[in-house]
Amino acid sequence: MAESVEVTKALAKESGRRRFFRALASLGSGAVTGLAGVKLLESKRAEAAEIPPPLTESSGTLILRMQQELEETVRSGRTPSWVMVVDTRRCVGCDACTVACRAENPTGPGANFRRVIQREHGPGQGAWAIFKPVNCLQCEDPPCGRAVPRGMIWKRPDGIIEFDYDRLKGPYARAAARACPFGQIRVDEGKTFTEGTPAEQPYELRSFVENGQVRTRKRGAGGLNDTARKCTFCSHLLDAGVLPACVTTCLGGAMYFGDANNPGSLVREITQGRRIFRGHQYAGVTPRVIYFEEPMPDAAHIDCTACHY
Ligand code: SF4
Ligand code: SF4
Ligand code: SF4
Repeated sequence: MAESVEVTKALAKESGRRRFFRALASLGSGAVTGLAGVKLLESKRAEAAEIPPPLTESSGTLILRMQQELEETVRSGRTPSWVMVVDTRRCVGCDACTVACRAENPTGPGANFRRVIQREHGPGQGAWAIFKPVNCLQCEDPPCGRAVPRGMIWKRPDGIIEFDYDRLKGPYARAAARACPFGQIRVDEGKTFTEGTPAEQPYELRSFVENGQVRTRKRGAGGLNDTARKCTFCSHLLDAGVLPACVTTCLGGAMYFGDANNPGSLVREITQGRRIFRGHQYAGVTPRVIYFEEPMPDAAHIDCTACHY
């Protein structure tokens, strides 16, 4: 198992560093609905002098709290509004989350649902490095959904965007992928890492649950070849009362997850008064993945041009 994880990690690194954002030219306007939970996280921006430092609790303590909150939400039967919060100041670029995502959600070469963007400048005085994990942002009014016939892409009551894997294939899959301003859709090419080694291994072709259905990457009827796929916030885990794999695996303690409808949740607590960033929000996209845009105390502020040049 350790060996397969190493292979997966190496291949995940190999998958290339596509640009994070794409041009918005193809975006149209659309009605934004179901925003209540996400809107609750909008708060007055903190002044620079008031920027809180990163949380000091151990990541284990925070994961335990998030897990308990999740279990309580599942027990209560309430409809949550799931959000993912990323404190990039704590991300160390280890890619453990990328590997965990691969292990939890079988994908082929170059098709990971999650990656970590890395930018460095230096060496010398003023050298810096930043790391930014990215996955599907579960947009409130998803541009991918506007690009294909109604019913192929939908939003669950908890905000997670799901795909109809039996219909979102071929030209529809590519249209959805082109429309995503964040480049987060992978069209599954049906390849495996172990093909020709000499044989594909069962762990690559195993059954798994995605979008509420049991699936396999085996080629043939019901397979995922030529199908648009993406991060689902690990909805199959959430529905079973378990946090997403990337959150529980994060070595830097950079990942937070919870219910924005719950006033006592960690995600509500840590976003109050923070400078938060949601890509392309002005286009009515309103993602459910939120980034702190504050620098580390005493560190040089690095603006958007660090990645977008
Ligand atoms: S990030 Fe892309 S794939 Fe995810 S919901 Fe938004 S438009 Fe769709
Ligand atoms: S939430 Fe699950 S599917 Fe999405 S990036 Fe994290 S591990 Fe991957
Ligand atoms: S596991 Fe955490 S610290 Fe490591 S790259 Fe992923 S988000 Fe960053």
